[in-house]
Amino acid sequence: MTEFWNWAKTFHCRPALYAEPTSIDSLRTLLNEINKTKSKVRVIGCAHSPSGLAMSNEVLISMKHFNRIIEIDEKNFEIHCESGVLLSTLNEILPQHNLSLPVQGSISNLTIAGVISTATHGSGIKYGTLSSYVRSITLMKLNGEIKEYRLEDDEDLFHCLTCCLGTFGIILSVRLQVSSLYYLELNQHALEFHKFLNTLPVHYSSSDHFRYMWYPHTNFGIAYHLTRVQSRLINNKKSFLSRIFSWIRYSLIGHHLLEVLFYFSLFLPRLVRYINNIYVKLDGISNHKIDRCDKLFNFDCLFYQYASEWAIPLDQAVSCLIQLEKFMEENSNVHFPIEIRFSKEDLSYLSPGYKRQTCWINTVAYRPFGKTHFEHRSFFDAFESICYKHNGRPHWAKEHPLNKEHLSHLYSNWNLFHEKRKQFDPNDLLINDCLRNVFL
Ligand SMILES: Cc1cc2nc3c(=O)[nH]c(=O)nc-3n(C[C@H](O)[C@H](O)[C@H](O)COP(=O)(O)OP(=O)(O)OC[C@H]3O[C@@H](n4cnc5c(N)ncnc54)[C@H](O)[C@@H]3O)c2cc1C
Repeated sequence: MTEFWNWAKTFHCRPALYAEPTSIDSLRTLLNEINKTKSKVRVIGCAHSPSGLAMSNEVLISMKHFNRIIEIDEKNFEIHCESGVLLSTLNEILPQHNLSLPVQGSISNLTIAGVISTATHGSGIKYGTLSSYVRSITLMKLNGEIKEYRLEDDEDLFHCLTCCLGTFGIILSVRLQVSSLYYLELNQHALEFHKFLNTLPVHYSSSDHFRYMWYPHTNFGIAYHLTRVQSRLINNKKSFLSRIFSWIRYSLIGHHLLEVLFYFSLFLPRLVRYINNIYVKLDGISNHKIDRCDKLFNFDCLFYQYASEWAIPLDQAVSCLIQLEKFMEENSNVHFPIEIRFSKEDLSYLSPGYKRQTCWINTVAYRPFGKTHFEHRSFFDAFESICYKHNGRPHWAKEHPLNKEHLSHLYSNWNLFHEKRKQFDPNDLLINDCLRNVFL
């Protein structure tokens, strides 16, 4: 029995059976066995979720071999790919067809099924989560039956399936709406936190994909305005000297030295405030560049970390952030960045962005060299409680304390989702420990 960890090394399991099926037949045989033994099963992509979502001590099925791009329809801006295809693969292949993913988050080492199952988001008030770009899902039910599900066949079911946390069956493939190829123009500058709060609508509406990286305890953050521009020939080739400079600045100082400094802060927690102050000055140097979209959407998420992210209704974002600031000044030493992003309302019944414009607030607590920042739990408790008071909904892939009782009040179609889920999985075989509190 091997031990299995998520990316952040914050959750692990010891599955009694771990399988990487290579064909529909082998998958079906596996499901037959599972039905006979009534084992609990989780289907996973890259297991990057910073929670127990992708864990199982019974059966764990990785879809890594289902990694074919089946069709690229340039005319209709649609792709059809198997569930285990990585976003990073799509980021290389789609530009060859003059296409790009419609939105994406901070990393692309994630599978297409993984991101739509948790309503993974990027930033941009005109853009929904990745779930909102799904055109169809082909699913293998627990009884081995395969069917393609589209909006036009059953609207309710479709809106359940497009963010269902692996609780309906095994996603075999996904048809996704994509965009014509675009590049991004980045304008990055330091912005005082209260100025940002006072001009929030100006920021999220004046560029396509705005994000604000707040450096707690500094009164400052970095504003990233990303505007879509047509593809063009860009010469981003760097000289040898500038590559060395980049390595020193971003890898040596921005990553390795930072890990050492945060490590020392485990013994001297107030050091966190000085670290944040130094790095906001370094990162706050204005920057302008144009590059392929994924290269500017994605960034180095540094080292092992706990993460907690909530989707706050846009009109309550400022009040939520002010309360958070107040709490932090009086209490914890909080790591940077607190990442603030925006998205359009979604229609997936369990998307945290369901039917509301959303401000996403993501906090991290690093674990330098695998060691835990001991104040993180009290800070996360306070953060979660502030977000919950502001009608926040937690990101499904990240840790949260809410149970069925809380969540059923946050989602108007909660019961409908539950009824549909029961039709697909009457014995709750697809519910793992992490989801027991949520659904049972
Ligand atoms: C460093 C880092 C940065 C991140 N940045 C962002 C971000 O910017 N925005 C954001 O919204 N999120 C972000 N996330 C969260 C991430 O997008 C989600 O955790 C995503 O679900 C992970 O994809 P995965 O392929 O690893 O899926 P897993 O973690 O393996 O699985 C996630 C869910 O999908 C289900 N699933 C996967 N494959 C299948 C399948 N074939 N059939 C049925 N169910 C399936 C699993 O059962 C599980 O419920 C980040 C995570 C990390 C670690």
